[in-house]
Amino acid sequence: MNIIVLVKQVPDTTEIKLDPKTGNLVREGIDSIMNPDDRHALEAAVTLKESVGGRVTAVSMGPPQAIDVITEAMGMGADRGILLSDRAFAGADTWATSLTLGKAMERIGDYDLIICGRQAIDGDTAQIGPQVADHLGIPHVSYVFGIDEVTEERLVVRRRLEDGYERIETPVPALLTVIGELNVPRYAVMGRLIEACGEKASIEIWNAADIGAKTSELGLEGSLTHVIKTFAPKFKRQGEMLEGTSGESISALLGKLHENRIL
Ligand SMILES: Cc1cc2nc3c(=O)[nH]c(=O)nc-3n(C[C@H](O)[C@H](O)[C@H](O)COP(=O)(O)OP(=O)(O)OC[C@H]3O[C@@H](n4cnc5c(N)ncnc54)[C@H](O)[C@@H]3O)c2cc1C
Repeated sequence: MNIIVLVKQVPDTTEIKLDPKTGNLVREGIDSIMNPDDRHALEAAVTLKESVGGRVTAVSMGPPQAIDVITEAMGMGADRGILLSDRAFAGADTWATSLTLGKAMERIGDYDLIICGRQAIDGDTAQIGPQVADHLGIPHVSYVFGIDEVTEERLVVRRRLEDGYERIETPVPALLTVIGELNVPRYAVMGRLIEACGEKASIEIWNAADIGAKTSELGLEGSLTHVIKTFAPKFKRQGEMLEGTSGESISALLGKLHENRIL
């Protein structure tokens, strides 16, 4: 079974800070990591490869430093790593990102399964998996927390719902987006990491021409949505002193809580 795993490099924080002047993400002093859900996607892919055979390819779109997540993916057991990196990809919204990833999948070809994380901890949209599947015209199942049956023609997976789960059968090729409940990701193996970084390193870097994309379809130019303004909401704390005896203060407080429908 040939499996492609999409891995994204994200800042190691869930508390994204914005520069109040530029509206850009403040990245200084924040390490980058592999998006947590993507580690579970990789674990699922490598486990499947170990049980039914095949090949795992890790793909990321990002700036040159995103090669670190591909290296880590190879340390965890991916056989091939591809970084999509080109200035033309910059400023992409989810539409342009998934189109870029989809075109890379088309070039890789010969895949049975694509596995992504459900959601990235920075962008947080959870749109990429379903959109890539849509671009490729293949079925997808999101929120997967169990893979029960795998054959050359089909998969049976469990999909988490708020109050239970669904068991879904899908033909392959298909795309899954997975959640943390699926498995416990393994650590990268030192020997594999050294191999991935070494002289014989096999990580491929692809640009827009390599995936046969027009620059007008990519990055900011190819984005269907445009951010008009980015801002962090301001929280104002307002204090009010209640005068009088403790009894008077308490009844004044109760009055205000009722007035504001808090009680
Ligand atoms: C108008 C607009 C402009 C933007 N401009 C920029 C910008 O200038 N720079 C910038 O960094 N971001 C920018 N973004 C954010 C960028 O579009 C998203 O980070 C990206 O589309 C992925 O969406 P997400 O983070 O919500 O991923 P989700 O949909 O939450 O991710 C789900 C899964 O998809 C896969 N995945 C997601 N992204 C990637 C990736 N890049 N490579 C491989 N797999 C991936 C992973 O498996 C991940 O777990 C912009 C967004 C918008 C709407």
